[in-house]
Amino acid sequence: MTRPGSCPPDRRRYSTGVARTYWVETLGCPKNQVDSDKLIGTLQADGLIAAAAPEAADLVVVNTCAFIEAAREESVATVLSLSGSRRAGAELVVTGCLAERYGAELASALPEAKVAGFGVPVTLGAKPTVPAFDLLNLPRPRASAPWAYVKVAEGCDRTCGFCAIPSFRGKQRSRTVESILAEVDALGVQEIVLVAQDLASYGRDDHRAGAIVELVREVTARVARTRLLYLYPSELTDSLIDVIGATGVPYFDLSLQHVAKQHLRRMRRWGDGRRFLDRIAAIRARYPDAAFRSSFIVGYPGETEADQDALLAFLEEAQLDWAGFFAYSAEEGTYATTLPGRVSAGLAAERLREAGELQDAITASKRLALLGCDLDVLVDEPGLARSHREAPEIDGVIHVPSSLPAGSFARVTVTGATGPDLDAVLVGAEV
Ligand code: SF4
Repeated sequence: MTRPGSCPPDRRRYSTGVARTYWVETLGCPKNQVDSDKLIGTLQADGLIAAAAPEAADLVVVNTCAFIEAAREESVATVLSLSGSRRAGAELVVTGCLAERYGAELASALPEAKVAGFGVPVTLGAKPTVPAFDLLNLPRPRASAPWAYVKVAEGCDRTCGFCAIPSFRGKQRSRTVESILAEVDALGVQEIVLVAQDLASYGRDDHRAGAIVELVREVTARVARTRLLYLYPSELTDSLIDVIGATGVPYFDLSLQHVAKQHLRRMRRWGDGRRFLDRIAAIRARYPDAAFRSSFIVGYPGETEADQDALLAFLEEAQLDWAGFFAYSAEEGTYATTLPGRVSAGLAAERLREAGELQDAITASKRLALLGCDLDVLVDEPGLARSHREAPEIDGVIHVPSSLPAGSFARVTVTGATGPDLDAVLVGAEV
């Protein structure tokens, strides 16, 4: 294994004396962005510097996503486009989930590329470029925004019927609290967004029961805001709810996927709509300002009209702030592909539109309800900020006066709402 710091100093730069340049293109989810940050940290530690554009780089890395068919298509299109535009002699490395999952196929389809699932060494010239590593514990560059994702575990121990992630990311492997806190300290940001495939199960692979609660407590002691993404609903214990409430960011991203009980069992998942609603109501009773996000899959095999109606009724009652909807995509080797009751693509698209339109209206009304309210916001960049209700890159934003510097906190009054976004002025300012 090659780790930054393990090479003698004279091997950390190329012997030409001219620094090589890199370009890292990232597709997919926040977890992939963290992996890319760590790749960049490794490349920089090896003496490479960022290129101004992919066409100018000596090394082009594409960190791919393979979550669903559309993501795979986008990843392949990006690889082909960057392969075509890179300058003569530039190395092309394809890594990430697509490389993990379809490494052999990719390598034969793209002979000009080096295909490296994580853990596979690739060489550029005489030395490893993308080393055999566990990305989880590698250092990363200091964040350029006032917030950053921190991945606390890799892999997943669940067996959701639609999901291929455990087959190529493996069983859950949690980082130590110490390494996570060291990363949090080094990032130096105001908001940390904790992510993992199954965040609430953090530490369970090491038999550390309740480790997520302790971790959130530790991170909260270090940064102004701690946010959690991807919580499996059965793991939302009272102690986890309370420690999230104590972060000052009562934001609950519940990974629900559906609400119809039998359908959830077909998905090999826990819960049902009634339990979810009760939990949401209990959280709201305790934290009236709590914001909720979830994601749902429509068109999974066996889904009936009644299941769809149950989902729509749930959305009406739950009044979630945010929700994402995905059309089921059959993933090779998953349990779902063995199930009868295929839902046609047309019907799935119709159900997707129906649910999306309903939720858009709910989100818009939740945003309108904030008119005139005072909110505490973190300014991400001049003119753009977020309160506890908005996760970065996923939810809406708040337009604030551009005089507020990035990284500062401010108290603002909401003066307008357009779809998911809000307009706000400093408290006390004339409108
Ligand atoms: S919890 Fe389910 S959907 Fe999420 S990564 Fe694990 S198996 Fe996949």
